[in-house]
Amino acid sequence: MARRFVGRKLVIASHNPGKVREINDLVRPFDVEAISAGSLGLPEPEETGTTFIANAELKARASALGSGLPALADDSGLVVPALDGAPGLYSARWAGPTKDFGIAMDRVERELRARGLEPSGQQAHFVCALALAWPDGHCESFEGKVHGRLGFPRRGQNGFGYDPIFIADGHAITFGEMEPVAKHAISHRARAFAQLIEACFGTAA
Ligand code: IMP
Repeated sequence: MARRFVGRKLVIASHNPGKVREINDLVRPFDVEAISAGSLGLPEPEETGTTFIANAELKARASALGSGLPALADDSGLVVPALDGAPGLYSARWAGPTKDFGIAMDRVERELRARGLEPSGQQAHFVCALALAWPDGHCESFEGKVHGRLGFPRRGQNGFGYDPIFIADGHAITFGEMEPVAKHAISHRARAFAQLIEACFGTAA
C-alpha cells in the first residue's frame, strides 16, 4: 500500500517553471499548493542515476530533505531501442547548452543512419518517472510510457523536445502536430501522473 500525501504543501523538485505550472494544475484539485524548489533556494542535485526512476528519486529526496516538506520530481526522455536506448537519460543533454532540440533530433536521425538503419519507422518510446519523497526518506515512484515510432522530417509546432519526430501507436501524426489535450490524454507523463494520483492523492475535493 502506497503512503498517502496528506499535507497542504508540496515542493516541486524542478527549476523549470513550465513543469512547476503543469504539476500545480494537476495537484490543485486536491487542495495542494505546489512550491518550486527554485523559489526555496534548493540546489539542483546532479542526475547521476542509471534509470529514470533513480534520477527522479534522487531529485525528490534532495528537495524533501532540504525543505522538510514532501517533494515531487520527474525525469523523462525518449528511448530508441535501435540506438541502445539513447538518447534516454541524456535526452535533455543531447540538445546541448543552447537547448536546441533541432540539434538533438538531427543527431537521432544521423546516428540511426550511421548504423545503416532507416530512421523513419524505427520503434521508440517516451518514459516519465515520477517520485514523491518525504523528509524521512520514504519514496513512492511511478513510471509511465507511450510507445510509437519515429518519423522524419520533423513535423508540427506543438509540444516541445522530441515531439516533432514521435508518432504514437495508433496515430498518423506526430506529437508536435497533435493538439495539446490529445497528447496529454495519452502521454507518458499523463500515465505516470494517473498512477501517482490514484496511489497517493485519492479523490479530488
Ligand atoms: P528532464 O528534464 O531531465 O526530465 O529532461 C527530459 C527531456 O526529455 C526533455 O528535455 C525532452 O527533451 C525529452 N522529453 C521528455 N518528455 C517529452 C515529451 O513529452 N515530448 C518531447 N520530448 C520530451
